[in-house]
Amino acid sequence: MLNRRAFVRETATAIGGAIVAPPLVAAVAAGMQSGGAAPRRQVVVGGRRVKTVDVHAHCVVPGVGGTRGQAPPANNLQMTLGPERLRQMDAQGIDVEVLSINPSWYALDRDAARELIQKQNEGLAELCAARADRFVGLATVSLQHPDLAAEQLETGMKRLGLHGASVGASINGEELASARFDPFWAKAQELGAGIFIHPQGVPELQARLRGNGLLTNVIGNPLDTTIALSRLIFEGTLDRFPELKLCAAHGGGYLPSYADRSDHGCLTFPDQCNRTLKKRPTEYLKQLYFDSLVFTSEALRHLVAVAGASQIMLGTDYPFPWTTTAVDHIMGVPGLSEADRVAILGGNAAKLFRIPS
Ligand SMILES: [Zn+2]
Repeated sequence: MLNRRAFVRETATAIGGAIVAPPLVAAVAAGMQSGGAAPRRQVVVGGRRVKTVDVHAHCVVPGVGGTRGQAPPANNLQMTLGPERLRQMDAQGIDVEVLSINPSWYALDRDAARELIQKQNEGLAELCAARADRFVGLATVSLQHPDLAAEQLETGMKRLGLHGASVGASINGEELASARFDPFWAKAQELGAGIFIHPQGVPELQARLRGNGLLTNVIGNPLDTTIALSRLIFEGTLDRFPELKLCAAHGGGYLPSYADRSDHGCLTFPDQCNRTLKKRPTEYLKQLYFDSLVFTSEALRHLVAVAGASQIMLGTDYPFPWTTTAVDHIMGVPGLSEADRVAILGGNAAKLFRIPS
């Protein structure tokens, strides 16, 4: 892994200012040194301080992406890193954020994707290095070019010190379960990389989801995740890559809420099923990971019952203000042991994304 000084030097010479603006990244990195001085909520379980890890936190790298059609973040959202983000983390009791960048590059050709991802991952690694005690980054990958994505994942983890990767729940309308993506899954499994799956709605349903209530997001996002996970199970991807470490946003969408129906489809309509899975469909949920962003104690209790406490990790969706009480949400779930709470608050994520204690 490059140290920070070498990193800045390499980044500055490599990019020529075409996409990334190194001074911006450097300025943000410098600004974070003074952040986090406000009172910091200490999360304690059973008398012991717990290191909390938020696996669902968004960011952008300043100067990267905007020239490639990426929509600018809405006003007042702290998509960049900086003192205000650290202040909010401190107030909410979040010690570490695992940062991901929502993809906007799946339509890019190979050369453009290579260039963008390189700058973006280098910028993200540089920002995280400035406050390594509070931020770890997930590599971005151009999954539309699966072999290149495998390379980007390996470079991101081995050379840049990133801690896994994030991907959309579909790639230009193509399922993550498409065999075309197997080279990427093979590399992820080989590296033991945690892969965060974040949905981007279901554009095919736009007409039905328009109108009041932001249903394209409220329904579309969890549905996107539900379809992605179901296809990964039913098309045999998880059989081909049983050690894959996939973490789904928003509690896995609707799948864990109604998982048992998946066990009964092929029993009820065997003529509609063309492959035999190695396990019952619901068994695969015990090898997937999920964030805790399901809002109520009852929903989180159910998610734990379906997947197991070892599979659930704190998630806030920061800076989108879906919740500011992610820690209390986990503390309030009935029936969890202290060890379960510690695991969900941070232990599981530290293990999955290899975050030093
Ligand atoms: Zn999100």
